[in-house]
Amino acid sequence: METQALLPSEYTQAESADLDARIAVRKRQLGERLCILGHHYQRDEVIKFADFTGDSLKLSQLAAGQSDAEFIVFCGVHFMAESADIVSSDQQKVILPNLHAGCAMAEMADVEDVSAALEEICALTSETVIPISYVNSTADIKAVTARGGGACCTSSNVRNVFEWALAPTDKGGAGAGKIFCTPDQHLARNTALAMGYPPEACCVYDPHLPCGGLTPQDIENATFILWKGHCYVHQLFRAEHVAAVREAHPGIRVIVHPECPREVVDLADAAGSTAQIITEIDAAAPGTKWAVGTESNLVNRLAKRHSDKFICVLNQATAACTQMCRIDRPHLLWALDGIANRQIVNQIKVPQETADDARVALQRMIDIKPVTQVTTNQ
Ligand code: SF4
Repeated sequence: METQALLPSEYTQAESADLDARIAVRKRQLGERLCILGHHYQRDEVIKFADFTGDSLKLSQLAAGQSDAEFIVFCGVHFMAESADIVSSDQQKVILPNLHAGCAMAEMADVEDVSAALEEICALTSETVIPISYVNSTADIKAVTARGGGACCTSSNVRNVFEWALAPTDKGGAGAGKIFCTPDQHLARNTALAMGYPPEACCVYDPHLPCGGLTPQDIENATFILWKGHCYVHQLFRAEHVAAVREAHPGIRVIVHPECPREVVDLADAAGSTAQIITEIDAAAPGTKWAVGTESNLVNRLAKRHSDKFICVLNQATAACTQMCRIDRPHLLWALDGIANRQIVNQIKVPQETADDARVALQRMIDIKPVTQVTTNQ
């Protein structure tokens, strides 16, 4: 991968107000040739310049729909910019303002390890194994997923994607006897349990151990084989945080992202994707109280937007995605200056063969509709 250049001092030492003004000028100059996409977890100082905001799924769809924009500047992380490149047209250039904005979870699944694991698992069972990769994965992993007959999923449509994978082929499904889920074990496990499967239906494949640390019997018994990956932001939330926030704020509703560990999801009132959490809180009655187990930039923005409700981060501390935060005003301005001066920096270009295969997995994901409501615990 290309390395991130050090920014000149005209960016790193500029005052915030100066950076704001220069970014605004560049946006005006570039007009409709430019589209800035901002993920919900992005910091305020950057997201205020986004033409569109959303989660991974929405931003992929928006990228595909921005046919007038010659340049898509993606204020998210690396895998999101890759997805935008894959679904946008050949004439469009996708730019990630800081190449160090990666996703720790996506980086936990190396393509050679995943390919070898899939082969190993297939050799140990007579059932059909279908790979499903969370959209938070590299383009290489998405391509391997498509080649194995699988699809990508988002946290909004993961349940529907699993149902599609497990449905017989004569009913339009993929005919899976088993699903190999990468890279997030928590999303996969929480979804399998919400679908009514017992905990024993899931086993964890640890890429650091021979055969993932699994016996042939473990694989035979499992319906869901989970890659041992996680999001460090959501894994920070723990059961004691739920107890503490309930004690501090009687009557509070706890809502968490399914990338959180199972015990946190079990103790919460509801679990849902970023989009589902936003919908739920937007629709909540004034005066209600919410502790939210997801990225803190988003939660703090929700709190500002709904001053008539009490909204806090579940662990009462910061839960920021520090990788997404590597995109800041200086990097955004530097990327826009590069476009204006015809010296494009940080273009994300997925090799054609990988992009063609990954697009198949992404299109299957886009075709399988999301669930709009959170899953509630009774
Ligand atoms: S919040 Fe977690 S999954 Fe999302 S981009 Fe950051 S590290 Fe990746």
